Amino acid sequence: MDVFKNVEKQINKVSKIMDFDEETEFLLKNPKRQLTVNLSTRMDDGQVKHFVAHRVQFNDARGPTKGGIRFHQNVNISEVKSLAFWMAVKCAVVGIPYGGAKGGIEVNPKELSETELESLSRAFIKAIHPIVGPTKDIPAPDVYTTPQIMAWMLDEYEKITGEHHPGLITGKPLELGGSLGRGYSTAQGGAYVLREMSKEFGFVPESTKVAIQGFGNAGLNMARILDGWNYKIIAVSDSKGGIYDESGFDVPALIKYKKEKGTVVGFGGDEITNENLLELECDVLVPAALENQITEDNAENIKAKYIVELANGPITPEADEILHKKGVFSGPDVLANAGGVTVSYFEWVQNLYGYYWTEEEVNERLEKIMVKAFSEVYNKAKENNTHMRNGSYILALERILTAEKLRGNLS
Ligand code: GLU
Repeated sequence: MDVFKNVEKQINKVSKIMDFDEETEFLLKNPKRQLTVNLSTRMDDGQVKHFVAHRVQFNDARGPTKGGIRFHQNVNISEVKSLAFWMAVKCAVVGIPYGGAKGGIEVNPKELSETELESLSRAFIKAIHPIVGPTKDIPAPDVYTTPQIMAWMLDEYEKITGEHHPGLITGKPLELGGSLGRGYSTAQGGAYVLREMSKEFGFVPESTKVAIQGFGNAGLNMARILDGWNYKIIAVSDSKGGIYDESGFDVPALIKYKKEKGTVVGFGGDEITNENLLELECDVLVPAALENQITEDNAENIKAKYIVELANGPITPEADEILHKKGVFSGPDVLANAGGVTVSYFEWVQNLYGYYWTEEEVNERLEKIMVKAFSEVYNKAKENNTHMRNGSYILALERILTAEKLRGNLS
């Protein structure tokens, strides 16, 4: 499936409200720069293998481009372009001074050894180094990339430039200039969004059942945070499958199990598939895995009243309309998962002035940004009598297009 088609459909929908002219539409549908490289990496058995990798810088009107790097076998240029566009929208929604970018390597990282992973990470940054940098384009982690991978990339970049540049990349280990709170910030931001929804619609954690699809960094931390706030986590899943227990899981024990076994499957409850999880009887659904999970084929079967999109692009434009008609309220990805890039921004700020904040300072500042963004998006959606995704796009595209006009890039 060509994911960028979804982006084009989303832009067309917003165009019905904002009435873009041809020139604006062109600017919104085409990335400023895209680079595809062929990486050669020596494997442990002495053979050289080639990997295709991409970096797309979608829009930089509001500041240097920003966005993670994904290592996944399904990475392709259309996906990276879409993710880069969503990053531009996301940074504008939360009002941080960045444009949007994304990178990806077409690889299954689970098939690589630690040394192969290191060589590949270094090869990627070597290949893209002319177009990245603390004031140009700032990468970060995404699906299957870690603080260790950020450390290798930073080191490789600094070897090339001969200078220290901690602001090159975010999501670093603390010892190399990472920020406190960055590790769980995507989930923390999403939890703040859910809290704002609960205030708006009047539900309380104790009687709210949550199902989480995906148990990587975002899903796992969401389970941990919401469990701490007394929400009931009744279903979770990862790439190997899912588990369901109506009475709720012991989340700390579940996390321990996942860390030991590499999966949630086998921990307890009934075994379910990732597809079943989405259609469970629950109050809040948290897609925290990959894109295109809720489509026109299953949107009608969703029983949750609220959705918090921790993944990027989990709901297709067709499904958006079905859910909206059904009265499902969704906190869209470009708002709900923006906590990650927001704390990346804090990390970069700390790197640029070489002075570091406490975890409390990080979370207080994150909370302020998320609460403000939620209310701005909610008001935009209400004003335009539409759902939260359109609301966030209107807000973000107004900001991006104003910046483009100020630069003289639009008439
Ligand atoms: N990969 C994350 C995202 O999709 C974080 C990006 C960043 O921190 O720059 O939002």
